[in-house]
Amino acid sequence: MSAPRKLHIKSYGCQMNVYDAQRMVDTLAPEGFVETASIEDADLVILNTCHIREKASEKVFSELGRLRVAKDEAALRDRRMEIVVAGCVAQAEGEEIIRRAPMVDVVVGPQSYHNLPQLLARARTEGRALDTEFPVEDKFARLPQPSRQAIRARGISAFVTVQEGCDKFCTFCVVPYTRGAETSRPVARIVEDVTRLADNGVREVTLIGQNVNAYHGDGPDGRPWTLGRLLHRLAEIPGLARLRYSTSHPRDVEQSLLEAHRDIPAVMPFVHLPVQSGSDRILAAMNRKHTAADYRRVIDRFRTFRPDIAFSSDFIVGFPGETEDDFAATLALVAQIGYAGAYSFKYSPRAGTPAADMQEMVAPAAMDERLARLQDLIERQQHAFNRAAVGSTVDVLFERPARNDGQIVGRTPYLQPAHVMASEDIIGQVLPVTITRHERYSLFGTLPANAGAIPRQTRTPALTGA
Ligand code: SAM
Ligand code: SF4
Repeated sequence: MSAPRKLHIKSYGCQMNVYDAQRMVDTLAPEGFVETASIEDADLVILNTCHIREKASEKVFSELGRLRVAKDEAALRDRRMEIVVAGCVAQAEGEEIIRRAPMVDVVVGPQSYHNLPQLLARARTEGRALDTEFPVEDKFARLPQPSRQAIRARGISAFVTVQEGCDKFCTFCVVPYTRGAETSRPVARIVEDVTRLADNGVREVTLIGQNVNAYHGDGPDGRPWTLGRLLHRLAEIPGLARLRYSTSHPRDVEQSLLEAHRDIPAVMPFVHLPVQSGSDRILAAMNRKHTAADYRRVIDRFRTFRPDIAFSSDFIVGFPGETEDDFAATLALVAQIGYAGAYSFKYSPRAGTPAADMQEMVAPAAMDERLARLQDLIERQQHAFNRAAVGSTVDVLFERPARNDGQIVGRTPYLQPAHVMASEDIIGQVLPVTITRHERYSLFGTLPANAGAIPRQTRTPALTGA
């Protein structure tokens, strides 16, 4: 048997890219590739890129500069290092990558990962291969399943893509161009994937999609199912303790999703619901198709169905034409909603999007200042949220040993990291933890005296409302 070839994969950007990276590893495993943490050792390096903001794509070109040196050094040692650029920069700038970085062997867009073995073979004979098509068939149906070993190595929490692409066309965003039109995977295939994960020890699954609550995959009854209905079905899978989904759009929150939060204990009470701005004028210029009041109403509906629910969000500051008044409306919205955390970004013009042609750019200094004010408010809210947990008892799904000796770390329903002193036996269990203190982003607590002795399955919460 020939020695395994080594694959190093570096992923930028969103959760979907993290998931895609795993599926590329799974696709290349039958070709004899095993993962390595070191670029120097690698026979194949994949950069799994993100195009969402300008800095993200610049990073790719500087990383390619470093890889050229590594590839030359490997050649001096008579080793061939192949370089693949995958992801959304590959999709958007395929020809440009080939022109600026001729040592790249393969450029592959997010819809074509199942073709990686053939593309590498083509690059070996023809010198280079590029595939940035949007094929009609479900790429996931053609990607090999991860091995049991790979699932176990990845731990007890996993992502599963259920929906890809976006038809919303927010004026700042490249996703509709790089990931293509919105498509949903059939329910049966998702059930198969999640069952396989649960059978191999995964306790928490996060369903991912650019616009995950627009999910409308074909159900076993031949009709499109909503995300809420899908969650109900997945909650029946034995062994699964927690279900999450990300990222949602405020316009696509429908009744069955709210009911899933009310009726299924496994559906966690924490939702990432980006709003981008609190100003109706800016929301209209962004083509978000909702107002700040619409967003508040959606939040209120979630809270009616699940009073203990918490939210995170995304914000863009300095969108073209944003005035101090518009920005004040964003701060007011944040103050009113009260977030458990949020991501905020400076607006970055992306070529080919309508906003890139808008004239009234906000001065960089004003953008910096607004970003700092917004982040300060969000951070204070996040600290208050974490502080409020102190003294309470919360369910924690334990994931792995912490860096500190003897501690095991897990996540609360709100994704807060929670640390306890315990043996590794508790990994994979959901246990009540009494929170005694908090640091910047983490909670610390204690287990009930006999918790370590409780057998794994009996700690799993009931999976349905029964
Ligand atoms: N589909 C999700 C939504 O509707 O909010 C997320 C899409 S995007 C992958 C993640 C976040 O990146 C967005 O919510 C937005 O805040 C930010 N983003 C996207 N394009 C951007 C741009 N041109 N400049 C700055 N931030 C951007
Ligand atoms: Fe981009 Fe808007 Fe679609 Fe989100 S909803 S992926 S921000 S176009």
